[in-house]
Amino acid sequence: MEECVFCKIVKGEIPSEKVYEDDTVLGFKDINPAAPVHVLIIPKKHIESINDLTEEDSNIIAHIYLVAKKIANEFGLKEKGYRIVTNCGEKAGQTVPHIHFHLLGGRTFKWPPG
Ligand code: 5GP
Ligand code: ZN
Repeated sequence: MEECVFCKIVKGEIPSEKVYEDDTVLGFKDINPAAPVHVLIIPKKHIESINDLTEEDSNIIAHIYLVAKKIANEFGLKEKGYRIVTNCGEKAGQTVPHIHFHLLGGRTFKWPPG
């Protein structure tokens, strides 16, 4: 996906503040943070949304949660609590069509979300 902003971040064509990287996953700070800690965790592979996941993506998605746990620990959120959010589709608030997991922490969150 040439036009995809997150694919461009993966390729280094758009700069980002990386907090984690391995062969399959990238974690970087959200440009417009909604909490004191706001990291986006994405697969390097372009997958548009949850709707596009297949069985072969299962390992990547499971791995993303373990990466989220690691990043949360590093940012001191283990005891404080944190939230992981994935918006699916425009009506749910998805603005970037490359699946991503918001890791949010450092403040109190309300439930249910707005
Ligand atoms: P969504 O609304 O799709 O769930 O989340 C997309 C997120 O990506 C937003 O929180 C937005 O601030 C973030 N974002 C969009 N463009 C960029 C960018 O170029 N760099 C970074 N670091 N974050 C971005
Ligand atoms: Zn992409």
